[in-house]
Amino acid sequence: MQKREKFLPYSTQWISDEDIEAVINTLKSPFLTTGPKVKEFEEIVAKYVDVKYAVSFANGTAALHAACYAAGIGKGDEVITTPITFAASANCIRYMDATVVFADIDEKTYNIDSKEIQKKITSNTKAIIPVDFTGQPVDIDRIMEIAKENNLIVIEDGAHSLGADYKNRKVGSTADMTMFSFHPVKPITTGEGGMIVTNNKDFYEKLILFRGHGIQQTDYSKSQGEWYYEMVDLGYNYRMTDIQAALGISQMNKLDTFIVERRNLAEVYHEKLKNINGVKAPWQLKNTKSGWHLYSVQLDLPQLKKTRKQIFEELRNNNIGAHVHYIPVYWHPYYEKLGYERGLCPKAEKWYEQALTLPLHPQMTEEDVNQILTFFK
Ligand SMILES: *Cc1c(COP(=O)(O)O)cnc(C)c1O
Repeated sequence: MQKREKFLPYSTQWISDEDIEAVINTLKSPFLTTGPKVKEFEEIVAKYVDVKYAVSFANGTAALHAACYAAGIGKGDEVITTPITFAASANCIRYMDATVVFADIDEKTYNIDSKEIQKKITSNTKAIIPVDFTGQPVDIDRIMEIAKENNLIVIEDGAHSLGADYKNRKVGSTADMTMFSFHPVKPITTGEGGMIVTNNKDFYEKLILFRGHGIQQTDYSKSQGEWYYEMVDLGYNYRMTDIQAALGISQMNKLDTFIVERRNLAEVYHEKLKNINGVKAPWQLKNTKSGWHLYSVQLDLPQLKKTRKQIFEELRNNNIGAHVHYIPVYWHPYYEKLGYERGLCPKAEKWYEQALTLPLHPQMTEEDVNQILTFFK
């Protein structure tokens, strides 16, 4: 194949002149933080996914941490999640001193398998954190059923799936709480940023409390005077700035266009991969439309007669930003030290050995996809 002139990353932000202007306007305004843009951004996202409440955070990981707090997760509790995700989906459970329980993935969707969730439920299980890996929604209706039967809270990690559709609903409207991330590689960006959406007022109030040092106005403080506030629990400063929110508002105007572009490119990959042996395109669950945050293929290495490392390095040498998402979370030394052993989720591990992420982001063209795929011909 011909080497690309410029490196093509697996994902990247798309910042327009309007985005830049929106940020500059906020920089010139009286509020850099805790101002009107934060509220406006939250309202826009809440409306987009059709929920009552949205609470923004400094980043998606902080948002997950807050969701675990709002869910009342604590020491002795078990929380079930997938090993095929970014470490933050599990780390948030550890922040609350609770136990992470990994349930294996479904071979077809690569998402957490509902049947495996059921096997892992004990009397200590408190919550489930399913992840919409690559932007493909998990079967959230089924997971909510399981949660209801077992009195569990569901925090959906939608870091990849803002704008994705599940049975004609936007991801975010079904779980007890859903997290979105606005890191530059994610569907839209605020630099760093995150959000929790929910229909539950109690969760909403706890999220606000946790985000702001655990400080609030109480009846007592009101009786003391306007300056008086009380810190009622140990919270954090996890606030998003108005500068970030201004960028987020502007990016939300383009989310649907971004998703259309991603879906079109995924379709091109799909079609072309039908004629390429040794590279398996991702399968899609019925009634869902992925947001295509990642395009993750499975390599038939014996057929390709190369190791994944060779393929990865050859693509990189040709300036194609292939990547691998993700190393099973419990393989990381931190989790190993906690006692998690290899072999725990065999399907996830087998999947990982053959996984490769090919570049996909809205600024790419069909020609880019064609060029990438010439490598496998
Ligand atoms: C990016 C990501 C997060 C964390 O989001 P940040 O905004 O980077 O903190 C959590 N879960 C998944 C699956 C992610 O991809």
